[in-house]
Amino acid sequence: MKRRTTQITAKSNITSYVEINLTVLKHNAALLKERVPDGIKTMAVVKANAYGHGAALVAHALSGSVTALGVASVEEAINIRNSGVILPILVFAPPRAGNISDYKTYNLVATVGSFYELELMSSSMSFHIEFDTGMGRLGFSPNEWPELLQKLNKSELKPSGVMTHFATADAPGSDKVNVQLQLFNKLLEDMGSWKQGKVIHASNSGGLLYYPEAAFSMVRFGIAVYGFSPSAVESIPGLKPVLSWKSCVSVCKPLKKGETVSYEANWSAPQDGWLVVVPVGYADGIRRGLSNKIEMSVAGKRLKQVGNITMDYTMLYSNEPVETGEEVVILGENAMMADEWAELLDTIPYEILCGIHPKIERRPVS
Ligand SMILES: *Cc1c(COP(=O)(O)O)cnc(C)c1O
Repeated sequence: MKRRTTQITAKSNITSYVEINLTVLKHNAALLKERVPDGIKTMAVVKANAYGHGAALVAHALSGSVTALGVASVEEAINIRNSGVILPILVFAPPRAGNISDYKTYNLVATVGSFYELELMSSSMSFHIEFDTGMGRLGFSPNEWPELLQKLNKSELKPSGVMTHFATADAPGSDKVNVQLQLFNKLLEDMGSWKQGKVIHASNSGGLLYYPEAAFSMVRFGIAVYGFSPSAVESIPGLKPVLSWKSCVSVCKPLKKGETVSYEANWSAPQDGWLVVVPVGYADGIRRGLSNKIEMSVAGKRLKQVGNITMDYTMLYSNEPVETGEEVVILGENAMMADEWAELLDTIPYEILCGIHPKIERRPVS
């Protein structure tokens, strides 16, 4: 087997890094765009540091592929803007009196979901109106539309979009999505010609992939562009994980049959072998609940993770010795994927991906 040399040199203090495969990212974006009807706009959702992939990196890489970006907060938007991205950026968080000037300075699009937020807007600002059709989170109630229209008519405000968000679009064939869709369609009908020229959007990745009838004039995809299907039940062929998390062997030492490893001493060696110490732990985002359940790849070979994962170290068991400095793939190509970790933890890949500590360097590869 070809020996894989590590990218972490003996001189560096880096204990791990995250590789972002830009070719794969663009491949996923192209695949998603094929599923979007002609003339429909696309928004890449890059909140939470682009689901852990590096917000500025992803925003730049997708600049030629999508029409807009979506983020959770003004802070995230400023970070992306400052990196030189010129695409429109929609901020999902409710605007607040304290950050209105940032929307103007950085040319951000606001999401308005209450009368309080509406009062913060001015005629020079661009904003979308969000309706809560059943997500149970942010947005106006559809019942508030007549009052909202009245207020808008009396003002100089110029909303540029209308949106809603699905609660259950990650499940194909959900009744709840259809109920939300009916409510939204009814609302759009009530809007009549008022909605003309405005961008209308509802779908996240699940909406785009499982409810193509809900594309309206824009779709907002997150998880799928990073390579994961919104539903574990109906996976989308062709999507590929973009991220690989890599480290290197810190220490390898012999382990006698019966010797225990790590806190609580809940694992002992079934036979003489080797203990491989990886300098990455739950402080970095390897969730402790994965202890004794996962595998990592060392020099291309899968090794079992053994003993409790600790704050800064994770241990593996090997039948044969491995070199100090040898490459370890924690997550990604040749190792386990974020959706497999998620299943073990009874969660979703989103939480695994954005749980990789932002302090860890994201390195683009193609
Ligand atoms: C996070 C988010 C998305 C993207 O969701 P995915 O399931 O990752 O595609 C879309 N729209 C809004 C409002 C969001 O908060």
